[in-house]
Amino acid sequence: MVREIEHCRRCPLHRSRTHVVVYRGALSPRIVFVGEAPGAEEDRTGRPFQGRSGRRLDAAIAAIGLGPDEFGVLNLVKCRPPGNRFDRAAERACRPYLDRQLAWLRPRVLVPLGAHALHALDPAAPRILLAAGAPRASGRGALFPLVHPAAALRSRRLSERWERDWRALGRWLSRTAA
Ligand code: URA
Repeated sequence: MVREIEHCRRCPLHRSRTHVVVYRGALSPRIVFVGEAPGAEEDRTGRPFQGRSGRRLDAAIAAIGLGPDEFGVLNLVKCRPPGNRFDRAAERACRPYLDRQLAWLRPRVLVPLGAHALHALDPAAPRILLAAGAPRASGRGALFPLVHPAAALRSRRLSERWERDWRALGRWLSRTAA
């Protein structure tokens, strides 16, 4: 599957990419964090969440005590959209890859980061600021939505929200069998 994704030409983003950004993390993760699309640093390295957002994400993951064999990180879209504008056509083209990745990884918990990921995984979910910080059941099992780390980096209010919601995620994970 990784080979197929790496050679993908289903949408125009293949023309401007340096690397296809598929996945990083455990092969049998308890939790998978789902972002939007690669940025410049991810396009350069071929790994999801490598820039400032990635450092914020990794610091939060470490703070709740998740080890490297417990989690994985991927995006809805596997190639960098020029100008980092979220690209709906690319999201549709990439969707079968996301579904196959999740069917293969079979995490117990999915953590959508931001509104795009939340609504891709659970179209019936309310707005991200209403859904973030609490577990919700979905057709795919448990979701625990969070605001996107880039949003937390942009605003003091969302940074506080990010910190609070991560504490809630840590508490929920420690008392749930999921
Ligand atoms: N980097 C990623 O890989 N995904 C995002 O959603 C943002 C930054």
